[in-house]
Amino acid sequence: MSKVYSIAIDGPAGAGKSTMAKAVAKELGFVYVDTGAIYRTVGYHMDLMGIGPKDIDGINRLIDDVNLKLTYDEDGLQHMILNGADVTDEIRTPKMSKIASEVSKHKVVRDFLLDTQRNVAKEHSVIMDGRDIGTVVLPDADVKIFLTASVEVRAQRRYKELLEKGQKVQYADVLRDMEERDYQDTHRAIAPLKCASDAICLDTGDMDLEQSIEAMKKIIKDRIGVC
Ligand code: C5P
Repeated sequence: MSKVYSIAIDGPAGAGKSTMAKAVAKELGFVYVDTGAIYRTVGYHMDLMGIGPKDIDGINRLIDDVNLKLTYDEDGLQHMILNGADVTDEIRTPKMSKIASEVSKHKVVRDFLLDTQRNVAKEHSVIMDGRDIGTVVLPDADVKIFLTASVEVRAQRRYKELLEKGQKVQYADVLRDMEERDYQDTHRAIAPLKCASDAICLDTGDMDLEQSIEAMKKIIKDRIGVC
């Protein structure tokens, strides 16, 4: 079997992780794994069942009913299948962002999802993005990148993205939600968002998408010679 590579991309919401990782994965022929979507799907299931994201007893009771599958379409886009239903679009709302951030604080949820994430990386070369990929999920990743940009830049990007999807949102609300999520993700007790000691930090604040992707590719090429 040829060598399987793993590239870990971590960083706060709106740093451009998924857009950049998706583009680079396509070029390299690697599988792109969006781990935020996995947490969103767990939160979606709990919400559907009337369980709030802070209700640890309810989550403990229902977590084993969550049957998750990641599938990929012909464009390499990840689809989330929850108990047989494709919920890829349903999990992409501001409400689900908040729920995912709450639900992901719980140890039972993080433990439940660990193997799902690691198993993909055992079988395929991956670019995996999230909050704790370089620190917890794939501590031996071949390349670790921590992507960042100021909260205002990230909120502006997310605001544009939501408008383009036809969602009615206000910039001030997007900024506030992002600040809250940054706080929760960096201050939680288990697997908080932080830069791994051996990660390379890439600030995309002053870069457009093309420049950011080029910068990411250069880091990968310098480390493992592909790209
Ligand atoms: O990346 P995305 O914004 O879709 O993630 C939604 C939420 O899921 C994050 O705010 C974070 O709380 C949680 N998450 C996590 N660990 C990951 C990926 C996402 O805790 N590896």
